[in-house]
Amino acid sequence: SVPSRRPSNPWLVCAQGRNLKAVLCQRCGSRVLLPGAATFACRELLLPAMRKKAAATADGGGGEGDGDVLREHWLVRDMFSFENVGFTRDVGNVKFLVCADCEAGPIGWHCLDDKDSFYVALERVAHE
Ligand SMILES: [Zn+2]
Repeated sequence: SVPSRRPSNPWLVCAQGRNLKAVLCQRCGSRVLLPGAATFACRELLLPAMRKKAAATADGGGGEGDGDVLREHWLVRDMFSFENVGFTRDVGNVKFLVCADCEAGPIGWHCLDDKDSFYVALERVAHE
């Protein structure tokens, strides 16, 4: 199906609504998704502010309330479509996605109530 809304940067999306470019970690360049692995989706999701240094394994990012509502995402339907990705520990029924190599993030959002939906925020990643 054709997405009803277009991203701020239309050059990132092909006619079928998929990502034209590879999705990379902004900090270390680790490859998160290959071109075509995800579909553009609009949804308001609250992601905690980006951590400056890796602290994911220690306390899961901790402090709530400090974050951004992000609307443009790459929607991935199968966890095995990721090249590399890490997860924070559960915060309620939500896991946040982080870079598998340097733990920069959160770069995305996953709800345990919907096992087949992984969201990666366009603003939180690089495109190549
Ligand atoms: Zn990284």
